[in-house]
Amino acid sequence: MNKKELRKIFREKRMALEHSETERMNDLILVQFQTISLPWLNCVHSYIAAEKYAEPDTSLILRFLQFRYPDIKIAAPRIEADGFGMTHHLIEDFEEMELNKYGIEEPAAGEEIAPKDIDLILVPLLAFDEQGYRAGFGKGYYDRFLSECREDAIKIGISFFAPAKRIDDVDEHDVKLDYCCTPEKVYQW
Ligand code: ADP
Ligand code: MG
Repeated sequence: MNKKELRKIFREKRMALEHSETERMNDLILVQFQTISLPWLNCVHSYIAAEKYAEPDTSLILRFLQFRYPDIKIAAPRIEADGFGMTHHLIEDFEEMELNKYGIEEPAAGEEIAPKDIDLILVPLLAFDEQGYRAGFGKGYYDRFLSECREDAIKIGISFFAPAKRIDDVDEHDVKLDYCCTPEKVYQW
């Protein structure tokens, strides 16, 4: 199937979930995440889950990473006002977030960091496939961002659902994941 078809199917599957189910799956995703063997991390980047899109919540994973790496820096993206770029900012206070035009929370302030400083990225997606490719919201924000990150930065997708067999219209800009974490298991490429 192509990205457009997969986005529709997986968006609907996600929106049909009960809150109690997503809470349980977020817990199971953390359990699966904890099985990944990680190197020392100085800086992690995460999307901030939007409840209205029923996105998997990364805050449990971030809390675990803070526990394991006490000095870890946590960054999140801000979309640029024009174009399809993002800048990346350290989160100093999770209370100080503001909504962007898509209704997604962003750090209101916070030191900007360079993509090259990031060791691990928690990558949002609507669908992924058995080869490690993903379909996002369809604007390529993360493809552009991930192409600016270091080769050895670890890219971990987070999904409530198992992968599709194959995304048929992968293009040269699509950046593959290293892992995808679901409630059932961790996929690795
Ligand atoms: P998403 O990854 O959000 O699901 P797509 O993969 O469909 O979205 O990409 C959306 C558009 O952005 C495509 O036309 C794609 O070619 C373009 N794009 C993605 N990354 C880049 C890039 N690094 N440079 C130029 N165009 C890009
Ligand atoms: Mg893409």
